[in-house]
Amino acid sequence: MGSLHANDIIDTTGCLQHPLDAEEFRLHAHKLVDFIADYYKNVAKYPVRSQVEPGYLRKLLPETAPNQPESIEDILSDVRSCIIPGLTHWMSPNYYAYFPSSGSTAAFLGEMLSTGFNVVGFNWMSSPAATELESVVMDWLAKLLCLPSEFLFSGGGGGVLQGTTCEAILCTLAAARDRALSRGCDISQLVVYGSDQTHCALQKAAQIAGIPYSNFRTIKTTVADAFALTANSLSLAIDSDISAGLIPLYLCATIGTTSSTAVDRLPELAQLTSQHNIWLHVDAAYAGAACICPEFRHFIDGVELADSFSFNAHKWFFNNLDCCCLWVKSPTALIKSLSTNPEYLKNKATESKQVVDYKDWQIALSRRFRSLKMWMVLRGYGTANLRQFLRGHVRMAKVFEGLVRLDRRFEVVVPRYFSTVCFRVRTGGDEAEENEMNRRILESVNAEGKIYMTHAVIGGVYVMRFAAGGTLTEERHVREAWVVIKEQVDKLMPNV
Ligand SMILES: *Cc1c(COP(=O)(O)O)cnc(C)c1O
Repeated sequence: MGSLHANDIIDTTGCLQHPLDAEEFRLHAHKLVDFIADYYKNVAKYPVRSQVEPGYLRKLLPETAPNQPESIEDILSDVRSCIIPGLTHWMSPNYYAYFPSSGSTAAFLGEMLSTGFNVVGFNWMSSPAATELESVVMDWLAKLLCLPSEFLFSGGGGGVLQGTTCEAILCTLAAARDRALSRGCDISQLVVYGSDQTHCALQKAAQIAGIPYSNFRTIKTTVADAFALTANSLSLAIDSDISAGLIPLYLCATIGTTSSTAVDRLPELAQLTSQHNIWLHVDAAYAGAACICPEFRHFIDGVELADSFSFNAHKWFFNNLDCCCLWVKSPTALIKSLSTNPEYLKNKATESKQVVDYKDWQIALSRRFRSLKMWMVLRGYGTANLRQFLRGHVRMAKVFEGLVRLDRRFEVVVPRYFSTVCFRVRTGGDEAEENEMNRRILESVNAEGKIYMTHAVIGGVYVMRFAAGGTLTEERHVREAWVVIKEQVDKLMPNV
């Protein structure tokens, strides 16, 4: 432990002394880069899911912050001994939990630039390049995704980089709400729709936006529809709300749900929402990235009729956290809801109305220069290679799916569309027993530390989720993961 006491003689060599000294920065940043490069080299050696107990860290660290500077060596040594054991290694090639967090060197370098410049681009004037680069890369991305031109700046729409999907949903819901309120609706009449597979981000957004809980609809999906939301079931809900005197406001349709990567029936849902003037948001947090490949683009067919579309580039598009890409057809609707105009931010550029002031497109005022990261990723790899990376992950998931299908003890529970496989073992017992057995298998796989997966319950069925897509994952890791899973099944179900 590197803590110093008041009586120690302070040797400040190796310590940080001037908060922005260029040479000090050079020296220590090089050490940090080496440290992180070594981490990437060794990350496969750690247990993927952290094995510490709650409260472990407080026991290891001093009660109070140090009064005197400590050396970077001492701090890094504590990172090694105290922090790394408490990490779940999202960058491990053996990480298959939740959805991946696909970091990359290019994104890392972009983050370095962004952190280095440390500009706060709330409006155009506060750093013109931050705003303009963001608008450019959002148009680039929109073209890669073949979004309709109405989502591009040239077509009257536009894109913004936010932190998370939760924020994107909240901002678009606020815009939809205020549009309705300005037409004379009462907030107690407004209804928000999703399915029972929609991410809980929608519920949180509805709560924050003041939508009465009794007006929040989670429409039931079925195994027969592969857990997709259909126009039929949405239509029933809309009709019953209208006859009760309520006003349908907002639908969040999901392409690639979090539990099972189900794909809501966007083309037919979009018809319905445009008929009823419902704001349609398409949440493709995970699967949106794949849609830059022509063979996957059909999954977002229908987005032409949506009001907004978002995906998380930090999930499966090689951008380190955080980076949610959001496009809207009507920036005006967003801005009406989110803009403020205090005296201390007034400037000529804003008054000229020739510029984007991104503070009016998001919750917070201050914002990071995130587009440097996305620009680095797009330029550093090129779109041809980005497509190949994504295809590689889908191929790995197909390999895994094939292995599952070959073993008669297992079943693939829902269709695999992208790089995530939902599967389980069959015990021949009742549902409760099967669920319990799968839960035990997953826990013993994860406790062993060689790989890490998480679970979902879909239509009452407990499934293990194998989410490929880690940047360092190769096919050999996927094959090894299958061996690890089978070994635990052999152990826990010896007689099957
Ligand atoms: C991960 C996920 C979210 C939440 O994303 P955040 O960026 O953490 O807010 C929302 N929707 C879907 C479909 C997701 O997979």
